[in-house]
Amino acid sequence: MNAHLVDLHCHLDLYPDFESAVKGADVAGVYTLAVTTTPQAWPRNHEVAGRTRYVRAGLGLHPQLVAERHGELTLWERYLPEARYIGEVGLDAGPQYYRSLDLQKQVFEHILEKCGQIGGKILSVHSVRAATAVLDLVQAHLPATRGRVVLHWFTGSKAEARRAVELGCFFSVNGAMTTSERGRGVIATLPTNRLLTETDGPFTQCDGRSARPADVESTIRNLANLYCSTPEIMAAAVEENLRTLLSETEIPPNDVQVPR
Ligand code: MN
Repeated sequence: MNAHLVDLHCHLDLYPDFESAVKGADVAGVYTLAVTTTPQAWPRNHEVAGRTRYVRAGLGLHPQLVAERHGELTLWERYLPEARYIGEVGLDAGPQYYRSLDLQKQVFEHILEKCGQIGGKILSVHSVRAATAVLDLVQAHLPATRGRVVLHWFTGSKAEARRAVELGCFFSVNGAMTTSERGRGVIATLPTNRLLTETDGPFTQCDGRSARPADVESTIRNLANLYCSTPEIMAAAVEENLRTLLSETEIPPNDVQVPR
């Protein structure tokens, strides 16, 4: 394929060897967003990604960790000015995390507000069983002109997907979504200019091992089938979407930051 592949959500720091995982993505020439789950992981991820051409780090505070780590929001905020990419953040209303949902909402609301104040951030957002709640908060606290949300592994309904599109969200799609009936149904309703790819490695598998960024190629093939296109065209479209996302979140040089 001529286009560069895109893995907009991968936990490179959770592979057995972080540095070699980063190197693998960089050598493969896959634009990779190395998301993190706690702001404590930011300095090292930021530093290691900073030595690469294709890997960028995300400043995260994972909703599944909010119950124990909400105190790290101060640390998250301290690093915020250094970060262009934010993630993994969001809400998880699954049975295991439901109890912390109110706290998760407070944390996510704060994250969205801070991102909106500074502007120019790209957020990789988790929304398990909470798509409507995520979209309510995005609509209230992060207008599309102040930052962009990429819904990672979106499992909401078609109506929720439509609303997300109206709010300017992008979608990072992984292999599991392209092979599930429900996932395919939702993907088919998405405009192709909002599509990105991801692995969510190492939490997903490919050929019986943890997925790596270059494995998004199989997702590109599945998407090409779904849209009656070719992998080459699909890969080029996804790369173009990434460029659009980047240009839409560029801060004009004269945009003065006004703290509220
Ligand atoms: Mn993840």
